[in-house]
Amino acid sequence: MWIERALQACLKDKALHEGQPFAFVWNFDEIRDVVSDLQRAFPSTTLHAFAAKANPVKGMLCYLKDLGMGCESASLGEFTQALRVFEPSKVVFDSPCKSLRDLDVALRTSALINLDNFQELDRVKGYRISLGNDFKAKIGLRVNPQTGAGALSVFSTATKTSKFGIPLSEKAEILAACRECSWITALHVHTGSQGCGLDLLVAGIRALVDLALEVPHKQITTINIGGGLPVNFSSDEYTPSFAQYASRLREAIPELFTDRFFLVTEFGRAVVAKAGVILTRVEYTKNVGGRHIASQHAGVDVALRTVWAPKDWPLRIDCYSSEGKHKKEGHNVVQTDVAGPCCLGGDLLAQDRALPKVDPGDYFAVRDVGAYYHSSYSYYNLRQSPPLYSWNDDDTPKQHLHLLLSASTVEQTVAFMSGL
Ligand SMILES: *Cc1c(COP(=O)(O)O)cnc(C)c1O
Repeated sequence: MWIERALQACLKDKALHEGQPFAFVWNFDEIRDVVSDLQRAFPSTTLHAFAAKANPVKGMLCYLKDLGMGCESASLGEFTQALRVFEPSKVVFDSPCKSLRDLDVALRTSALINLDNFQELDRVKGYRISLGNDFKAKIGLRVNPQTGAGALSVFSTATKTSKFGIPLSEKAEILAACRECSWITALHVHTGSQGCGLDLLVAGIRALVDLALEVPHKQITTINIGGGLPVNFSSDEYTPSFAQYASRLREAIPELFTDRFFLVTEFGRAVVAKAGVILTRVEYTKNVGGRHIASQHAGVDVALRTVWAPKDWPLRIDCYSSEGKHKKEGHNVVQTDVAGPCCLGGDLLAQDRALPKVDPGDYFAVRDVGAYYHSSYSYYNLRQSPPLYSWNDDDTPKQHLHLLLSASTVEQTVAFMSGL
């Protein structure tokens, strides 16, 4: 298992040491294979724009660019980060609340900008006139197909009342806007993140393509199908796979796989979640009122979702000895609460979990945290963000363990709350 080799390398190379008790590591070989599955599943001309919010770290974006991906951004910060790595024509800008400043920056680039509502469209019409030849962007409309919610309401964006996009109930107005603005050439849908079954994702895209086909003169040339392929957090298996998703799409929406449309995808979680792990040292263990607690260093500051919604985001946790050797399941199992370091009673990565008995100095590997964990880092308790590494097993001249992002220092953390 790569994690055991990566942990031993972290110990040997001093990526983990007394003063640095936890780190994120991504298996880049695994990400390369996942991206290649994605590219094989869709037409070769497809722009696969990685959703930066899942993991906006520059070293990650550079790697995904080398593998042939583009980038989807959802704020001026993500857009700026994306343009530091990708050609503008490979960048997508989605945000339900773009300011005039956001639009002024974005419309001057050749990125694909998906507009969220008719008021934003009115602003863009103004910019078409005022920017003249500096208006370079490709324009799409985000449509809410109103096909319903997935299992997680917070992550569902295609309900009847979702805050995202123009509802399909306003189809007449959408068609009128396309008639008036011949420069609207793309339609966009994103049904939700995690918790959406393939049927729901496919239904939203079917509705979008039907709408695109109603716009005369083949004006809509680009279909952006969003992301949201759910990730399996309970085993090593990648299921559903990109191939399974694409074959369902091909059955229900054959038009997508012809040269009638240029396709854009925006997957985030499904690309990088399973290849990322937090390696974190057990600092103390104790028994309190019959409860066995193991304290370690990853808390609510890096695992916001799991700590606040543990039922929706349960994480697998493996145990390793202080030398980095995997502890076998079933060996001296103890019901354990895996506690974080933050001043919050609920700061737990797992509760009452059957784990091999751990001792201070052992390590936990917290699994499937490659997306939306480090990217949701917070300054709560003024703790320092951990270092990020990539891992390669292949025989390349590159080091197996490669630093993507240094840990933040106490000085940087304190400065964030001190500067004017
Ligand atoms: C969050 C988001 C994505 C990525 O979702 P994943 O579940 O990570 O694949 C793609 N497009 C839009 C518009 C999003 O908001």
